[in-house]
Amino acid sequence: MQSEAIPEYGEMYRDSISLVNKKTGDRQWVYPKKTKGPLYSGRTWFSIFLMILLFAGPFIKINNHPILLLNILERKFIIFGIPFWPQDLPLFALLMLTFVVFIIVFTVMFGRVWCGWACPQTIFMEMLFRKIEYWIEGDFKAQKKLDEQELNTEKIIKKGTKHIIFFSLAVIIANTFLAYLIGIDEVAKLITEGPSAHIGQFIALIIFSFVFYLVFAKIRELVCIVICPYGRLQGLMLDKNSIVVAYDFIRGEPRGFKKKNEIKLQGDCVDCHRCVQVCPTGIDIRNGTQLECVNCTACIDECDDVMTRINKPKGLIRYASQEQIANGLGRRITFRSAAYLSVLTLLMGLLTYFIATRKDIETTLLRTPGMLYQQQENNRVSNMYNFEVVNKTFHEQQVSVELAEPAGATLKMVDRESSQLSLGEDEIITGSFFILLDKTAIKQNNISAKVNIYSNGKLIEVMKTNFVGPVTN
Ligand code: SF4
Ligand code: SF4
Repeated sequence: MQSEAIPEYGEMYRDSISLVNKKTGDRQWVYPKKTKGPLYSGRTWFSIFLMILLFAGPFIKINNHPILLLNILERKFIIFGIPFWPQDLPLFALLMLTFVVFIIVFTVMFGRVWCGWACPQTIFMEMLFRKIEYWIEGDFKAQKKLDEQELNTEKIIKKGTKHIIFFSLAVIIANTFLAYLIGIDEVAKLITEGPSAHIGQFIALIIFSFVFYLVFAKIRELVCIVICPYGRLQGLMLDKNSIVVAYDFIRGEPRGFKKKNEIKLQGDCVDCHRCVQVCPTGIDIRNGTQLECVNCTACIDECDDVMTRINKPKGLIRYASQEQIANGLGRRITFRSAAYLSVLTLLMGLLTYFIATRKDIETTLLRTPGMLYQQQENNRVSNMYNFEVVNKTFHEQQVSVELAEPAGATLKMVDRESSQLSLGEDEIITGSFFILLDKTAIKQNNISAKVNIYSNGKLIEVMKTNFVGPVTN
């Protein structure tokens, strides 16, 4: 979205990004000022809740299985306790598509609320690592001074302590991340049995730890601005009706400090720059909505405090759409959001239907390729079939394959004594069987055949196929 520039200040800010030093071209380190206010408090409590959820997640089990597991290597996924096996790929793809459309709808209507309030990157960065940095190094000015000063005992102690704590936290986060990938039991084995017994997992843990450490100690806001694909797609998703953190330029301009009793007509913005100082991505929100804004709301809290002090109404910076600010329009559902909402509703309906009708046991039956029929002893004819039975549950299943049609025919397993199959959790059994029929019963070339599949004694599927043989007159 192209936000409306304030004519007096032009669009010069679009020529550079806040993170690059205009003179040297090097990265401009951002030292955001400590902030406080109702939104910041709200975000702190919400972040604590989310962090508890995130760290406790791997320990929460349903029927001894994790509530969330994303084991990409073994292609095993559990989402809210529902297992998705490789055979569920279409359903999983639909789930992911629904999730992506949900994110798009949410962004079109409410901007980057996710980034500011729920994204793990922002939560860990602003609510954990940044707070530790303030605690050890002090507020933004003290941090800048410490960085610029010569290496001395104070600097070594402060920087050393900070980075040891940062790395320790990165190790904890890496362990949690690994637990979501391979399960908490495997992580526990790695810890108790040592790295030599789980070398692959240990290497993964080391890599994740260093990545998380670098992300929170060095890369920081570049994740949101340069690396995150969701952040980079903002320009496509937002429009003038999206709710974003916005500066009310109608009310705020012309900006400037107004001396007491000064009659000059000025806007409410006193140009104190406090909204810029607290911004973790180093931007000036008064320039309009920018790609760098993660909707952290720090500037809202800061500006509200300024407005309170100068006896002006709060909300000079607030959650609002560009249309609301520029034209005073109320909140409205646009055609675009309505269209996205319709697609989302449709996808959610489909997803609910497919999850509700998803089978615990999935069976496939095919005639063995390249074979028509075989002449057998006792004047009988046989057809051969291949089958596959998949147990998608976490429980053992007793499956039986029984012939229902044609009447008088028999089913005989190949390389297997019985048609009773015992399937363990996530087990796939494949095999073949013959259907044998007396030649005299074959009155046409193609006879319909039905095979019933029972699970734990209950009929769960009727598989239809055909039987071919020579016609007897
Ligand atoms: S904090 Fe508010 S008053 Fe101060 S510069 Fe920012 S918008 Fe203007
Ligand atoms: S402009 Fe405001 S909401 Fe956006 S990132 Fe900066 S401080 Fe946060």
